[in-house]
Amino acid sequence: MREVYLNGQFLPEDQAKVSIFDRSLLFADSVYEVTSIVEGKLIDFKNHMKRLDRSMKELGFEKSLNHDEILNFHRQLIKLNNLNEGIVYLQVTRGVFDRDFTISQKNISPTVFAFTQEKKIVESESSKKGIKVMTVDDLRWKRCDIKTTQLLWPSLAKTEAFKKGFDDAWMMREGYIMEGTSNNAWIVRSKNVFTRQSDQLILSGITREAVLNCAKNLGYEVIFKNFTLPEVESAAEAFITSATSFVTPVIQINEKKIGEGEPGEFTKALRAEYIKQAIKSSI
Ligand code: PMP
Repeated sequence: MREVYLNGQFLPEDQAKVSIFDRSLLFADSVYEVTSIVEGKLIDFKNHMKRLDRSMKELGFEKSLNHDEILNFHRQLIKLNNLNEGIVYLQVTRGVFDRDFTISQKNISPTVFAFTQEKKIVESESSKKGIKVMTVDDLRWKRCDIKTTQLLWPSLAKTEAFKKGFDDAWMMREGYIMEGTSNNAWIVRSKNVFTRQSDQLILSGITREAVLNCAKNLGYEVIFKNFTLPEVESAAEAFITSATSFVTPVIQINEKKIGEGEPGEFTKALRAEYIKQAIKSSI
């Protein structure tokens, strides 16, 4: 059984309980971060903390959290659970008070919890084989830049994709690809890599930020631009980025193969470069 973290305490997973009045249960009023762990160390932790601060600020959470304390309990969780490779999931909710649409209470303490999950990240199956994605409408709200736990649509969409034999769904608005259910979308054409500009309609990925530099190191130009389904279909390569998938090739969209229908050479090189940098800078 895992040891998890809840509001300052480490507990066996079946003893960690939150109130039914927690705003995260009643209104999905909470934010989260997922940090990947390789060789027992945290990848890109500082940037995850910056984004956490931003998400909390955008929702008007009253207090911010101390990053050193968060780092400390992340490390403790890794140790307590002997985690070599996988993730630490962190969630911060606005807190607990009687159900009310108006956020009228003052001095609310956030609920903070975290747990580990083992996962093969560096040598994942999907990175070797590539993934197939299906397009769906993006039915999310228009503040996807905030990393909230309102994940019902991405979860339903990914489940639908699985049922149809795909690995993930890419969400579309007005003819443009926004992002994957839990990852950023990219395409490659000659020596250019395209990924959508950051605004309120997508999450600005921490992995994406790091990958930009890796792409430049490999002599590619990164262009922030919306792209359409036909542009994906005719791309040389496509891939996704996220904390848990790093850089993972996309080999098919709907019924159409991308490039040769196999992981592309650039994507493979980019993944290797990212892993090298990520491990070097892990803490
Ligand atoms: N977009 C969405 C919608 C996501 O949920 C995620 C995963 N958190 C990402 C992009 C990728 O972000 P990151 O690289 O920070 O994991």
